[in-house]
Amino acid sequence: AASPLGNSVIPIVNKLQDIFAQLGSQSTIELPQVAVVGSQSSGKSSVLESLVGRDFLPRGSEICTRRPLVLQLLQTKRKPDGAEEEYGEFLHLPGKRFYDFSDIRREIQAETEREAGGNKGVSDKQIRLKIFSPNVLDITLVDLPGLTKVPVGDQPSDIEARIRTMIMSYIKVPSCLILAVTPANSDLANSDALQMAGMADPDGHRTIGVITKLDIMDRGTDARNLLLGKVIPLRLGYVGVVNRSQEDIMLNRSIKDALVAEEKFFRGRPVYNGLADRCGVPQLAKKLNQILVQHIKAVLPGLKSRISTALVSVAKEHASYGELTESKAGQGALLLNILSKYSDAFSSMVEGKNEAMSTS
Ligand code: GDP
Ligand code: MG
Repeated sequence: AASPLGNSVIPIVNKLQDIFAQLGSQSTIELPQVAVVGSQSSGKSSVLESLVGRDFLPRGSEICTRRPLVLQLLQTKRKPDGAEEEYGEFLHLPGKRFYDFSDIRREIQAETEREAGGNKGVSDKQIRLKIFSPNVLDITLVDLPGLTKVPVGDQPSDIEARIRTMIMSYIKVPSCLILAVTPANSDLANSDALQMAGMADPDGHRTIGVITKLDIMDRGTDARNLLLGKVIPLRLGYVGVVNRSQEDIMLNRSIKDALVAEEKFFRGRPVYNGLADRCGVPQLAKKLNQILVQHIKAVLPGLKSRISTALVSVAKEHASYGELTESKAGQGALLLNILSKYSDAFSSMVEGKNEAMSTS
């Protein structure tokens, strides 16, 4: 099944890639990276996994993510028989395809230990993993170690500063979308995620607040005011989610079941009535997808001029084949055809006809 992230954006991007392909030009649209920030065990890896819709990241109650994981999703063509082939490949193991996603998790763990040791050490050396699938958008997600304050195991005394520097190096990039993850059972005013995101993105135009662990808040409390932005306002707002608990992980509960349970959780709590657009992983994916569509709209004028340039050079090339001159009318028709296909896609995007798609 399609991953929640990108489900509405994939058709638009594919359409544009087709147009580029017809022009014989390699595309294309560079989508922004998405990085997660937050304290250790706030649920960052869990959130990323739910967005991708596959189980493959180490998660747990202790420090699990100890090196930055740069996860490149790459869309592949569906096989002629419709079969969905999905596999992962690591930069450090070129050519080796991982079809079993639990093997991917084991390899991330093993490779983490190779570089950062077996005793909670942290390294800023990336692990790079590509996931090939017909169901994903070409986008890069970055899972980062969480902030910790007290050194444990082999961690150096300046572990907090080191992790901060590492996180900053990713989220300060002006095109990076930041998922600032804070658990609902801690005080938002103490949120490392919001503090760091606020430094990297003071205007808040690329930070989405994610509140995890809504299921384990203190009795008598709820996240309504957090989600409404009444505690700490955030320009792009907040989405509350319920990920799998440690027990769910031990029982091997699937992402699909977890999504069903999450929906049931929100449905069963009247306090979240009326906040449907701020509750649940599917809403987080939708929010991200909308931002990606906005991004595509913003870069389209640049693409348009690249296409015009490509058209001119195609026309010149054709003109240089003398024997083709008599079929000029034919070439003209071809170019017009390409251009009009492009224009249709372009104008429907600009006019927002794809809004319907982006909210599906
Ligand atoms: P990270 O360190 O920020 O990447 O956090 P992880 O995704 O590894 O999660 C840390 C622990 O919190 C794991 O045991 C998860 O099962 C648990 N966890 C994460 N999100 C939730 C949630 O929404 N509800 C509950 N009950 N547990 C969660
Ligand atoms: Mg993690």
